[in-house]
Amino acid sequence: MTPADGDGVLHPPASIAVLGSGQLGRMFIQAAQRMGYEAGVLSATAETPAAQVANWTVLGPPDHLPALRALADRALAVTVEFENVSAPALRWLARRRIVRPGWRTLWVSQNRLREKTFLARHGIPHAPWRPVRTPDELATAARELGAPLILKTADSGYDGKGQALVEREADAADAWAGLGRAPCVAEAWVEFAAEASVVVARGRDGEASAFPVGLNHHERHILATTTSPAPVGPIVAQEAREAALAVAQALDAVGVLCVEFFVTADGRLLVNEIAPRPHNSGHLTIEAAYTSQFEQQVRALCGLPLGSCDLASPAAMVNLLGDLWAGGEPNWARALRDPGVKLHLYGKRTAKPGRKMGHITVLDPDPRQALDRALAAKRALTERG
Ligand code: AMP
Repeated sequence: MTPADGDGVLHPPASIAVLGSGQLGRMFIQAAQRMGYEAGVLSATAETPAAQVANWTVLGPPDHLPALRALADRALAVTVEFENVSAPALRWLARRRIVRPGWRTLWVSQNRLREKTFLARHGIPHAPWRPVRTPDELATAARELGAPLILKTADSGYDGKGQALVEREADAADAWAGLGRAPCVAEAWVEFAAEASVVVARGRDGEASAFPVGLNHHERHILATTTSPAPVGPIVAQEAREAALAVAQALDAVGVLCVEFFVTADGRLLVNEIAPRPHNSGHLTIEAAYTSQFEQQVRALCGLPLGSCDLASPAAMVNLLGDLWAGGEPNWARALRDPGVKLHLYGKRTAKPGRKMGHITVLDPDPRQALDRALAAKRALTERG
């Protein structure tokens, strides 16, 4: 292992690690290895997307003390690929090793009540909301926000899980019961014209830069496609990047962070969610940007200067979900007939509906063409004969 030099910079081939072993961890490790780092992971099994490519693996759950100790023995610096890492585990690690982002950053974004309170406190625009922890609060929320509204559990929600749409005020109690009467936020329904996101990289010196805005399309609450730059006009694009940078600054996030927005028909931006890590909507930066979101994560973790967030080309990304395997193995050769199609598979052994198995990226001077070509490649995957 290479110790950090006097400035606290970790040079390759230092050993660094990621907590969490899905595709985000895998792509972080691949970026780290390309720069000459030795990259490890704390993983439940040796078969996970990240463990398959890691230089070393510590097997265990993410908040298990012996596993954390083994991780600290091998890694000089640790980052995360998901926000639901326990704060005590991160604090324990941070007393021994460089940990970026810090536990406070994760603490805010791992709970929707804290996240909304944070946005309100910093004057960052977001949809009207109310806390729901008691039947009285539910009644107040339904009355003040009106229907339709969305109930979202405060803890561990992602990809639309832990959410219930309340179409009539009278249905609110049943909807909350369906969520186990867990603490929730009630959020006003937003008639958005589009969904967008901005990925930000922020170094330990507070220096930050934002990737161009991505236009996101969701299906069944799961990200389906991202196109960047988003066709939102220069003022909205500038405001989105400024808002995302403001969030990163207010959270004192070191590493990579994504802010998702609703864009209303009159061009207003409302923050929907914050993810203190690389994000699915940033995957196209691997091919399209001078520095990918994962390389930025490595640079920030190791105390290196950040790279350029500029795009070398407009691009589109299309997710490949497990549903594509329903009729057998997808037709990879057919999808790759367009020579500009870049295929990423995460090494997941079983394909389940809704499970993110991989993605396709296409670069094209016209972002709409990039999306059309990526969607055509996805359709070709299930063509037979
Ligand atoms: P979330 O898990 O909060 O990101 O929500 C997943 C998806 O549900 C979003 O990307 C939207 O498409 C939709 N959604 C969430 N909240 C709202 C809202 N307040 N109004 C309208 N659609 C929403």
